[in-house]
Amino acid sequence: MVATSRLVLFGLLLISIGWGALAGNSPSPVEKPATLPMLTAEERAYLAHKGPLRFCVQPDWLPFQRINELGKHEGIAEDMLQLMSNRLGLTFELLPTKDWAESVAAIRARRCDILPLGMDVPSRHDLLNFTRPYVSEPLGVATLSSEPDLQQAVDIGNRRLGLIKGFAPKKILQEMYPFMKIVDVESTLEGLRKVQSGENYGYIDNLLSLSYTVQKMGMLDLKTSYTLNFTHDLGVVSRNDEPLLGSIMQKATDSITYKENRAIVGRWVSVKIESKFNYSLFWKIGIAATLALVVVIAWNRHLATLNRKLDLAYKEVERLSVTDPLTGLLNRLHLDAALDQELARCERQQRCFSLILLDIDKFKNVNDRFGHLVGDSVLVEVARVLTNNMRRIDLLARWGGEEFLVVCTDTNAEEAAVVAEKLRAAIAANDIAVAGAQTASFGVTSYQPNDTIKVMMGRADAALYKAKEAGRNRFVIA
Ligand code: GH3
Ligand code: MG
Ligand code: MG
Repeated sequence: MVATSRLVLFGLLLISIGWGALAGNSPSPVEKPATLPMLTAEERAYLAHKGPLRFCVQPDWLPFQRINELGKHEGIAEDMLQLMSNRLGLTFELLPTKDWAESVAAIRARRCDILPLGMDVPSRHDLLNFTRPYVSEPLGVATLSSEPDLQQAVDIGNRRLGLIKGFAPKKILQEMYPFMKIVDVESTLEGLRKVQSGENYGYIDNLLSLSYTVQKMGMLDLKTSYTLNFTHDLGVVSRNDEPLLGSIMQKATDSITYKENRAIVGRWVSVKIESKFNYSLFWKIGIAATLALVVVIAWNRHLATLNRKLDLAYKEVERLSVTDPLTGLLNRLHLDAALDQELARCERQQRCFSLILLDIDKFKNVNDRFGHLVGDSVLVEVARVLTNNMRRIDLLARWGGEEFLVVCTDTNAEEAAVVAEKLRAAIAANDIAVAGAQTASFGVTSYQPNDTIKVMMGRADAALYKAKEAGRNRFVIA
């Protein structure tokens, strides 16, 4: 987590530095000529005679420049040289050196003709010419992240600060900050490594180069603690014993537009570094998010399956709770609710309902003679006959034991008596296997004002009792 936030901080720093380079510190667009600078005849003749211009570089100073594994020059300075070459037909040839100090020594000794990126300082004027700068960046101090941020330069005290050997700013820095203890290092990487190891307290370099190397090498234990009040202005340096070279290189740098300058710096800063940093983070987040999504989808499917099963189980429990398991008819529990509904409806409407309570005659004999299982089959058979002979809108329930209740909607007592007679005849006419034809007795009653279900059931029961008393296999209206 800490590492990630530091990465992000460095990314932001980098972008802001890159933007500064592009927007604030680069040569202003108004300085650029509308047309390409032309070489004079004298300059052209000089170049024709001279052949390729030999150049020396700082061999390990990205994003500005370096000599890569193939011995080729690359970085911001190389891209600028390419553009100059295209514009003015200049040809360049690299003279490799082992470090910056050797490059500076080489141009002073006239072994090379130009340094594509160097700083204009008075101490160099004896032997060298300088174009106007095309890159300007502040210098900063990198320290361990664990060190407190520096509020002012004096906070550095006399602690050791690395600086690339031969760097022009050294003398000026020593004059500006006499307390600083500046020690030589070979390259940005070595300078930063010595901060990591604790050999030096800090390392001074151009902010672009600091951020680039810290990012590229993943040096998450380092930070830029302080920005010095010193701008590193870099242009083309040329030997001054061939003065035409100075004016040619000025025209060459002038031929690069502000937009092109921005594009080159931007390419080396944002694209190269951001891609390294962002892509790995992007993939990590992407893979984690995909895995999370897969888990969520799988879990949702699992839940959906469980929900479906639960739903089916719930429906089955609901069905069983209102159904008599033997006959499949509604049970008494469900009928209680249905009767309450009938009563409520009856109180709103004119036509009311009737109840028919029936009880199989001498059913105990069936059990006694043929056994309980045959008794059960008689109950099932009677339920079937009743169902087949009643209206669809009426309700039939097993009231208990060998008793059944029919609720006849919108039916008065006389109409209910017709239904009861029909059912009686159907039962009596139905021959049942083993037990033979059975009969049943019926008590019929219909709703009367102020009735309750309990009162109605009492009347139906009394009527049924009368039917039994009267010899069974008949109905009585109460
Ligand atoms: P009545 O004509 O007076 O109604 O005579 P009955 O024999 O039908 O009446 P009784 O109340 O004496 O007997 C009812 C019998 O019904 C007793 C009981 O064992 C039997 N019975 C109740 N429920 C079931 C059941 O689910 N299965 C079986 N096989 N018998 C049952
Ligand atoms: Mg009974
Ligand atoms: Mg009975």
